[in-house]
Amino acid sequence: MIKVMKFGGGCLKGPESFFQTREIIKGEKSRTIIVVSAVSGVTDKLVESIAMALSSEKHVPLQIRILRELHQKLCEDTVKDAARGRTLMLAINKRLAKLERLLYGIAYTQEISDYLRADIVSYGERFTAFLLAAVLEDGGIPAMAVEADKAGMITDDNPNNATMIAARVKKELRESLMETLEKGTVPVLTGFLGRSRHGRVTTFGRNGSDYSAAVAAFAVDAGRLEIWKEVDGFMTADPRMVKTAMRIARLSYYEAAELSYFGAKVLHPRTVEPLQAKGTPIFIRNINNPKKGTTEIVQRGFETADVIKSVTC
Ligand code: ASP
Ligand code: MG
Repeated sequence: MIKVMKFGGGCLKGPESFFQTREIIKGEKSRTIIVVSAVSGVTDKLVESIAMALSSEKHVPLQIRILRELHQKLCEDTVKDAARGRTLMLAINKRLAKLERLLYGIAYTQEISDYLRADIVSYGERFTAFLLAAVLEDGGIPAMAVEADKAGMITDDNPNNATMIAARVKKELRESLMETLEKGTVPVLTGFLGRSRHGRVTTFGRNGSDYSAAVAAFAVDAGRLEIWKEVDGFMTADPRMVKTAMRIARLSYYEAAELSYFGAKVLHPRTVEPLQAKGTPIFIRNINNPKKGTTEIVQRGFETADVIKSVTC
């Protein structure tokens, strides 16, 4: 069985959480595909850098420097092997150089297209994929960063709220992921982004890495999808507002999509779409509490006629 495990920005924020993530992956018996979000706060930073570049080119170097230092520090704190650390920083710096050119481009032209916006905000996931792959390798787990736009994550032409093209993904993304798996290497796939039929970078919208993970699971016919977060799963209410909120053990695809659509932050609302037809189960798991606490999302939840299952807004 192949398992897809997605780690969100909250699981990838400092050295400790990178190590925690590695431990979880190390303990896996099944063949696994990893999908990552950007490091916590990085996508917001990229969004901000667009606004700043549009106001003046003078902001560009600082924005790039902040991103470089953040990832460099993570590299230094997590990757012990010096040569591996250098290779990692080469990969990151190469992408930062391209990002810098894109930002100067919008600073000089004073305009930005939706596709260019998608391209710029996609960089966070690229940095994390290389970073986590290096952290895994440093811990003796053969791993490889896979950038979704170059690996067959083909989407429609909606730049910032794209949808997979099922037939293309089933062939192209499947081939590249299986090729990596067959070498005994763990693919670390960038969440959030894809490539349109016409070759432009697209994104699945904010928090779209959940959807990416579901698409990857669909493409390789995975037996399950695990979404790793810093919470126990879906709750009966927002725990920040309702102290007695409890975890919900099982939801149907429909219920999970509806709660997400109406405001529950746990899951991207379209995550269930690629998995519905086949009935692949989704598990929400807590990185700080891996032994217990999950919400299982399956074809059929359970119904109790007299009870409201969850409240969201
Ligand atoms: N990094 C992107 C965002 O912050 C995608 C994701 O986190 O899933 O929206
Ligand atoms: Mg994020």
